[in-house]
Amino acid sequence: MTSVWRRSTTATEQIQGTAAAMRLDSVSKIYGEGTGAVTALDDVSFDVPRGSFTAVMGPSGSGKSTFLHCLAGLDRPSSGHVYLGETELGGLKESALTAVRRERIGYVFQAYNLMSALTVRQNVTLVPRLSNTAVDEAWLREILERVGMLQYADRRPNQLSGGQQQRVAIARALVTRPDAVLADEPTGALDTRSGQEVLRLFRQIVDETGQTVVMVTHDPVAASFADSVVFLADGRLAGQLQRPTPDQVADRMTHLGNW
Ligand code: ADP
Repeated sequence: MTSVWRRSTTATEQIQGTAAAMRLDSVSKIYGEGTGAVTALDDVSFDVPRGSFTAVMGPSGSGKSTFLHCLAGLDRPSSGHVYLGETELGGLKESALTAVRRERIGYVFQAYNLMSALTVRQNVTLVPRLSNTAVDEAWLREILERVGMLQYADRRPNQLSGGQQQRVAIARALVTRPDAVLADEPTGALDTRSGQEVLRLFRQIVDETGQTVVMVTHDPVAASFADSVVFLADGRLAGQLQRPTPDQVADRMTHLGNW
């Protein structure tokens, strides 16, 4: 199964060895103008290693959403550059950027965002169908099986628990074989047990398929599932922990202001 899932490396990446899956290069984002201007990100540079699971944490208003939105190409930086692999997103026209967002980045939101009128199978294949891309049946089955939802493929979201709905959302994010999956508080609406199942699933997908995952969270336990945690404070990078434990993360958080 692994060989099917793993994204092939380009020649340039092989030469470079450890090319980043995504990269922010001196990114600043300022909302508004004049006296009302807010600096949401202030000269942030960060590499997301390919095949890693990265958590992003910081107090409310520290720039986490802006960080994720800039990586996703949903927000254009005021200055600096954002790269998805070799592609510089700022250099793309809107139509090309839309295609990159649709085909090369998967999203998982706190609120699942599934279409209630569609079955699990239809939800998972919606994005490729919108761009007229065929999804082969074997691949769809493999993804649904991996997230543990194959037997529920014909159910609608209201016939599923929150944890199951989030696993469908993860399948939807993976179906295009994206370069990276970006998750915004994916366990925020779940009870502890379902949340941990979702986090274990992310961990498994990263370990077994080489998928790259970036997750914003405020939960030290959730962050401890990641390979590394990057901290933001006032729009700036405020440190990083490798192989974090919940206690280490919680300790770091207490030094970074109000959560
Ligand atoms: P976080 O996700 O850590 O709570 P955000 O990235 O949402 O932080 O916000 C960082 C700062 O930028 C905050 O001060 C917020 O009020 C401001 N901000 C975010 N989005 C906008 C916007 N669209 N317009 C104006 N200010 C914004």
